[in-house]
Amino acid sequence: MTKTLKGIAASDGVAVASAYLLVEPDLSFSKTSISDVDAELARYKKAIKESTEEVKKIRDTAKKSLGKDEAQVFEAHLMILSDPEFTGAIEKEIKDQKINSEAALDETSQKFIKIFEGMTDNTYMQQRAADVRDVSKRIMAHLLGKQLPNPASIDHEVIVVAHDLTPSDTAQLSKKYVKGFVTDVGGRTAHSAIMARSLEIPAVVGTESITKSVKNGQTLIVDGLNGDAVVDPSDSQVTDYKQKGSDFLKQKAERKKLKNEPSVTADGKKFTIAANIGTPNDMKGVHDNGAEAIGLYRTEFLYMDSSDFPTEDQQFEAYKKVIEGMNGKQVIIRTMDIGGDKHLDYWDLPKEMNPFLGVRAIRLSLKNQKIFRTQLRALLRASAYGNLGIMFPMIGTLKELREAKSILFDEKDKLVKKGVKVGKDLQIGMMIEVPAAAVLADQFAKEVDFFSIGTNDLIQYTMAADRGNDNVSYLYQPANPSILRLIKHTIDSAHKNGIWCGMCGEAAGDNTMFPILLSMGLDEYSMSATSVLRIRSLMKKFNTKDLKELANKACYVSETAEENKELVDNLMKKLNK
Ligand code: PEP
Ligand code: MG
Repeated sequence: MTKTLKGIAASDGVAVASAYLLVEPDLSFSKTSISDVDAELARYKKAIKESTEEVKKIRDTAKKSLGKDEAQVFEAHLMILSDPEFTGAIEKEIKDQKINSEAALDETSQKFIKIFEGMTDNTYMQQRAADVRDVSKRIMAHLLGKQLPNPASIDHEVIVVAHDLTPSDTAQLSKKYVKGFVTDVGGRTAHSAIMARSLEIPAVVGTESITKSVKNGQTLIVDGLNGDAVVDPSDSQVTDYKQKGSDFLKQKAERKKLKNEPSVTADGKKFTIAANIGTPNDMKGVHDNGAEAIGLYRTEFLYMDSSDFPTEDQQFEAYKKVIEGMNGKQVIIRTMDIGGDKHLDYWDLPKEMNPFLGVRAIRLSLKNQKIFRTQLRALLRASAYGNLGIMFPMIGTLKELREAKSILFDEKDKLVKKGVKVGKDLQIGMMIEVPAAAVLADQFAKEVDFFSIGTNDLIQYTMAADRGNDNVSYLYQPANPSILRLIKHTIDSAHKNGIWCGMCGEAAGDNTMFPILLSMGLDEYSMSATSVLRIRSLMKKFNTKDLKELANKACYVSETAEENKELVDNLMKKLNK
């Protein structure tokens, strides 16, 4: 039966395809004694055989859809499945203890995992623990007659349905076949949503119950423009939504004409519209959408996509590729923002009650200077190849900023002494995403070359509302006067001190926020590459003289975000007349 679920529109576009549930089955079991050892061994061997066949199939499809490197992990799984030390130990347990295969598998794999995890001086071996865990899960599923989701084996067009998607889950999805995704939880600024926008696939998050409302293979519509997910739609709904999707694509094509145009207002004032990227692979989107700079390169994805810390040279190559790819246009690279919802499998950090309020971003870098210094050296070396700005995330105090800068200068001095070339015009900036930094922007402005406002976090910390929690997503209010005052104070402080101010949070590409930011004189607008042309076409409509009053009204007269939306909507109506 048709059912429409309302969620949060996380990435533009409309798609219709069959649902693919990325939901783990319950793999709990009871330990029992067995009397027929041979029958139990046969059951166990059958599960190993089925698991091996399954992994081979996944490996072959993964090779085709994701590439050879991504398929490599399945070779490691096959090695474990055929390793007599591992499989033999389980058989021995079944024979000696006379226990069922599930219990023998669980006990043996726990032992292996512990041994691998204990190899603290060998990260490669430590990571094998994750492989043993994955393989055991697969064998267990076969023993229990359950099916594990296998995202890497997707070989037809689907809409992925999940309770939540971590950034690394999202990275594993094949761009060719995944036409959209719908989740139970999450907000517009969760990193999975940001990745969906960079992949240009429609997404709806925070539906609360999509995983319980749709079955594998059922037709599903994802409307990322309005935030709707339609399960088992009628034929006429399919036709209507397909039409909506093609209208959206037509409008997108129309905007493509602005690709090589400058970003100017109707009265000829020039601003910069930049793109946010996560990896050098996103550069195609940057060029296709005519972004004039890169306002944020989230380097943590380089760490997340790798199975160990990327080396200085690996980082240098990635940064250089992006810098050179921009041909002299500015590239702002942010030092790693690990923590919060971004963690690394190979970096066992202490568990924290509130990771978003814990040792995240610059706090983690300052505590782990060896890793931080490696990244800074790679950045400094890459700075010789173009126009680079290095930016620190989550700065809350002047002390943090000064410490980060002094480490950067120390590494720079060492490189220069060794005769290594470093860019002459390197700029140093900071993100304004902790309210304390926004309040003291007048003091911070004296110590950096630029600010970039990170509204995703600035809003979460100002409103005390977790950005990934849909129960409080109503508090994600970029146009709330409290947020606007912080933004205005930041921009004014930057200008009074002769530095430029940009914004790389999602609000920079928001239709309601844009005119308000323009009236505040924000210099640079950095957003998902797919939003660049929409904002450029919007910019052309405004005459800055008509916007003079807007900033003050929005900050000091309006009492709510809704009032500000109305203010902007009325302005737009007048413009479109
Ligand atoms: C932000 O917080 O607005 C920002 C751009 O950083 P991130 O989304 O990566 O936390
Ligand atoms: Mg942030």
